[in-house]
Amino acid sequence: MTDIVFSSWGGEIIETRGDETQNQTSIQMLDLPEYFKQDEKIKALMGWKGIVLRSPEVDIIDLCREYFEAVLAHSKTCDKCNYCKTGWEEMLEVFQDIATGEATEEDLEFMQSAAEAIVSNAKCSIGKSGPTPLFHALKYFADDFSQAVSGEKPVTKGTYYSKLTAPCLDACPIHLDIPKYIELIKDAKFAESLTVIRERLPLAGIVGRVCFRPCEKHCRRGNLDESISIKALKRFVADHEVAEQKEPEYEVTPSENNGQVAIVGAGPAGITCAYHLARKGHEVTIYESLDEPGGMSAVGIPDYRLPRSVLQREVQQIQKMGVSINYGQTIGKDLILSQLENDFDAVFIGMGAQDSTHMGIEGEDGEYQGFIPGLAYLREVNAGRDPYPQGKKVVVIGGGNVAIDCVRCSLRTAKEDIHLVYRRTRDEMPADEAEINDAEEEQVHFHFLTAPVRILAEDGKVVGLECIKMALGEPDASGRPRPVPVEGSEFVFDCDTIVSAIGQQVDLSMLAGMDDVQTTKWNTIVVDQYTKQSNRSNIFFAGDCETGPDALITACAGGRRAAHSIDRFIKTQPLEYDDNHYFDQLFETVKVYDPDEEILKVESKQRFQPSMLPSDRRKSTFDEVEQGLSAQEAVAEAERCLRCYQVATIAV
Ligand SMILES: Cc1cc2nc3c(=O)[nH]c(=O)nc-3n(C[C@H](O)[C@H](O)[C@H](O)COP(=O)(O)OP(=O)(O)OC[C@H]3O[C@@H](n4cnc5c(N)ncnc54)[C@H](O)[C@@H]3O)c2cc1C
Repeated sequence: MTDIVFSSWGGEIIETRGDETQNQTSIQMLDLPEYFKQDEKIKALMGWKGIVLRSPEVDIIDLCREYFEAVLAHSKTCDKCNYCKTGWEEMLEVFQDIATGEATEEDLEFMQSAAEAIVSNAKCSIGKSGPTPLFHALKYFADDFSQAVSGEKPVTKGTYYSKLTAPCLDACPIHLDIPKYIELIKDAKFAESLTVIRERLPLAGIVGRVCFRPCEKHCRRGNLDESISIKALKRFVADHEVAEQKEPEYEVTPSENNGQVAIVGAGPAGITCAYHLARKGHEVTIYESLDEPGGMSAVGIPDYRLPRSVLQREVQQIQKMGVSINYGQTIGKDLILSQLENDFDAVFIGMGAQDSTHMGIEGEDGEYQGFIPGLAYLREVNAGRDPYPQGKKVVVIGGGNVAIDCVRCSLRTAKEDIHLVYRRTRDEMPADEAEINDAEEEQVHFHFLTAPVRILAEDGKVVGLECIKMALGEPDASGRPRPVPVEGSEFVFDCDTIVSAIGQQVDLSMLAGMDDVQTTKWNTIVVDQYTKQSNRSNIFFAGDCETGPDALITACAGGRRAAHSIDRFIKTQPLEYDDNHYFDQLFETVKVYDPDEEILKVESKQRFQPSMLPSDRRKSTFDEVEQGLSAQEAVAEAERCLRCYQVATIAV
C-alpha cells in the first residue's frame, strides 16, 4: 500500500501530509485493499488500531462522527459499564455540535477526558480500544478540529460503511456472535445464549462437541493465558436445554412468496440450509441416500466423540418446523436430478465428499480381505459392526482426522495392536491437535516419515504392508515440506488389517448428463463463493462438495449462505453481494486478530477444561469421552471472556 496520506494504525505513525512525494511502502499488520465494492475506492479506515487516511478529501471529523455512531449503536447492546453508557453518547453530541458550529475548544477537552474515562473503566474492548482513533485524531488532526470549531472549515459529509466484528466472530466461518452468547452465559441466561447461536447455527450440540474451533485459535484471551473454551460453552447451552427438558421455539417468518425447495443430502450443509429456508417460510424436502440424517457427522464421526442421540434430537427439531426428509433416496439412482429441477423452485445439493481417495499403491485393487478404505471402515464401526473381526493387528494410513478416528475406533473394537503410518512428521499432521493427543493417550503407535509402498497378501488376505522411510524436502504447493522417499529404506509391517485414510473425494455421478455444471480439477463443484449458486442458476451447492473435505462449521456456513440466496432467487430478487461480503473480504487483509498483541491489565485465570473419561476406560467403550461443563464452570469460564468487539468504519 503506497498511497498513504496519514496512518496511526497499530501505533506506527506515517505522515506524508505536505510532502506527497514520499512513497510509503507498508504499514505493519495492515494490507488495506484498494476497493471496498467494485467501484468504491477505500479512502480511509478508522478502527480499533487507529486511522489510515488515503485521500485528503476525507473529512476526519465527519469520519470520527460516523465511527462514533457505529460504536455507540453497538455499545448500547451491552449497557454494563456506566462510562460507556453515557460517554459515547456525550462525545457524539460534541461531533454533532461541531457540525452545526455550536462546539467550543472546551468541548474538545471534554471529549479527550470522556474517552480516557471510558478506557480506564470499561470492562470490554469496545471501551478499551474503541476510543483509540479519537485520541489519534485529536492529536494528529488538531488543526482540523480547531478550524471546524471556529467555523473556518465546515464539516463535509462523506460516504461510509461500518461493521462490528471480533477476532473470534471473524474467524468463525458462520460468524456466530460469540461474545454475545458468552456474555449471556455470564448472566446465567442460558436459553437466550442458545437463541443467539441458533440465529445462524441450528446444530449447537453437534458443533459444540466436535468443532475444530477456529475461533479459539483467534481468541485474544489466548494472548494472555489460554483461549476461552468457546466450543465447550456452546455445548453447555445446548446440553442445558436438554437437561431442562425444554423444546426450542423457532420463529418462522411466513412469506407470501414462499417456494418449494429440494435438498439433496441430510448432512450438516443440507440440514442447515433446510433450517434457514424453513424459517423463511419455504417448503423443504430433503432426499438422503442413507437411512439416517447427519452425513459424516453420523456415519463418519464416531459415537465416543458425538453421540447419535445429540444429532438425532437436533435434526428432529428441524423436522418439527415442517422440513420433510425422504431417507433411502439416492439422487442419480432412485430419482434423477432433472426431475427435482422440474418439481421444485430451486435445488440445494450438499452431497459431501463420499469416496475415500485412492492411494495408488500395488495391491490396493486386489480386493484382499483385511484391506478397507477409511470411510467404509468408519461407516461399519459406527453401525455397530466390526468390518473384519478376524483382524487383530491394524495399520491405518493417513494423518488427518479420518485416520485418527480409524485408529481410535480400532482400539474400541478390541484390536490388539494399532499403528498409524504418516508420511510427514507430527508437526505437519492435518488432524486436530486435541484428537492426536487423545489417540496418543490411548496408546496408538505412530510412525512418522513413513509411506506405504505395497499391500502384501496371501490366499487373498492381507499379511503385511511394505513401507518406505521418508525425509522432508522443499515445501510443496500446500506450503508443507514435501516428503521424499529414502532410497533402500523399505521395510515390512506385519499386519492383517490395512485401513487407507488419506483423503476423501466428491462422487460426481449424480450430475451425469449435466455437463454445464462446472467442476474443478479436484472434482469439487464451482459455485459463486458467496451466493453458492452454480452456473445452473436454480441449483446451489455447498459443504464438502464445494470446498472439498473440510469441517462441520464450514458446511453449515455454506448451507446458511445458500438458503439466503435461494430465498432471494425464489422471490426473484437479484443475488447481489451485501456489505457483509465486502467486509469479509476487507477483514481477510485487515486482520482482526493480532497474535502479537499484548493484553495488559487483565488478571490471568485458568481455562476450565471439560473433564475426560480416563484413558484406560475409554479404550473399551464408545461412551462419550469428553464431558460437558457444569453450570458453575460455564459461568466462570464465560467470565474469562474479554468481549473483544471492535468496530471498523471505512470512507469510500
Ligand atoms: C471421519 C470423519 C471425521 C470428521 N471429524 C470432524 C470433526 O471432528 N469436526 C469437524 O468439524 N468436521 C469433521 N469432519 C468433517 C465433517 O464431517 C464434514 O466436513 C461435514 O460433514 C460436511 O458436511 P456436508 O453436509 O457437506 O457433507 P456430508 O456430511 O458428507 O453429508 C452429505 C450427505 O449427502 C448424502 N448424499 C450424498 N450423495 C447423495 C445422493 N446422490 N442422493 C442423496 N443423498 C446423497 C450423504 O449420504 C450424506 O448424508 C469429519 C469427517 C469425517 C469423514
